Amino acid sequence: MNQYIMNFCSNCGHAPLTYKQPVGDYQQRYVCDNCGVIHYQNPKIICGCLAFYEGKILLGKRDIEPRKGKWNLPAGFMENNETVKEGAAREVWEEVQARVKIKQLHTIYNLMHVNQVYFLFVAELVEPVFAAGDETSDVRLFDLDEIPWEELAFHSNAFALKQYIKNPNYQGVHHGDNRSYMGDFVPNITPL
Ligand SMILES: [Zn+2]
Repeated sequence: MNQYIMNFCSNCGHAPLTYKQPVGDYQQRYVCDNCGVIHYQNPKIICGCLAFYEGKILLGKRDIEPRKGKWNLPAGFMENNETVKEGAAREVWEEVQARVKIKQLHTIYNLMHVNQVYFLFVAELVEPVFAAGDETSDVRLFDLDEIPWEELAFHSNAFALKQYIKNPNYQGVHHGDNRSYMGDFVPNITPL
């Protein structure tokens, strides 16, 4: 089941909900038998940046769980009323207190087990100024041959960084997912 457990209806408060396949649907959903609402669950977007200054990349050390104490590309949940680019720049500001000029989309990474999709952009710091935000304990510019691979927080980060190092001038978008880390996970629909 790739849905979060729901104990009651967020529309009318009724409990319990029925987990079933609505008429005309192709998969099971939580359905409220009282008010009829079908509770669709869809992936959340995480946006962030590979932010560079003079060829070095900015990483922040997480001061929150999960993966507290590990290095991470500045990234976080997209908010309503912003574009993905705006969200990516905002997250860099919030996490590592740096202003960036966003260049191009670099990586789309699907985290199947938690229903999240990463959008990571290549960006340039407008000035060599940065500091730890509320959820960060340290911020540093790393040479690409000094990246702390064993201390990175997430596979999505490692994937994007490896793609960048392999081909720094590539203008296309890299697509990755964590399916290979998920054992017998089977997606509902296979892309053509
Ligand atoms: Zn209801």
